[in-house]
Amino acid sequence: MRIGIMGGTFDPVHTGHLVAGECARAACGLDEVWFMPANVPPHKPNAPKASAEQRWEMVCRAVSDNPAFRPFDHELRKGGVSYSVDTIRELKARYPEHEFHYIIGADMVEYLPKWREIGEIMKMIGFIGLQRPGFELQPEALPAFIRPGVRLAPMPLLDISSTDIRTRRREGRSVRYLVTAPVHDYIEGMGLYES
Ligand code: ATP
Ligand code: MG
Repeated sequence: MRIGIMGGTFDPVHTGHLVAGECARAACGLDEVWFMPANVPPHKPNAPKASAEQRWEMVCRAVSDNPAFRPFDHELRKGGVSYSVDTIRELKARYPEHEFHYIIGADMVEYLPKWREIGEIMKMIGFIGLQRPGFELQPEALPAFIRPGVRLAPMPLLDISSTDIRTRRREGRSVRYLVTAPVHDYIEGMGLYES
């Protein structure tokens, strides 16, 4: 099977992540998209606000109505800092029958040259890049060894981020429809991101 890996902190998972996964799936003929929360993301200065268990629960809720989407706990189970190069090696060893593609938004595409062991990563896997407001998707700006490994999939620009959702919650503003209804119920029920 052709599998898309949608990695993220998912603090919380929002509609932008889901649309990105669906657009990548449709454009690149993926059989499934696996949503994989990072345990500790290497590139973020602050720890996630929600616990690993809470982020996992939200991802499970968010993907449950799409038969092509699946929550995937590889990095949470493993613990520690989640480096993609390790994850990709482990996925290839554990599922030799599948072909994996990494799905990333424009902010991550820009950041690709800085990924740990990016040269090794490019030998192992291809990327699907999606546009995101505030970031230019410029494959021509990427180093030559990365450029051919990044395929672009069209997506309507969605100016939604977990950071903005956390800010809204802190300020007592609504996040309804920025996240799916089951995720919204969970955030409200647990009182997440209120402070
Ligand atoms: P934060 O604001 O906390 O960084 P985020 O909204 O950027 O959260 P992440 O969990 O960091 O969400 O992102 C996971 C992946 O989803 C990344 O590849 C990111 O580029 C992509 N992504 C997130 N939001 C969007 C969006 N609105 N449109 C397209 N891609 C997105
Ligand atoms: Mg982000």
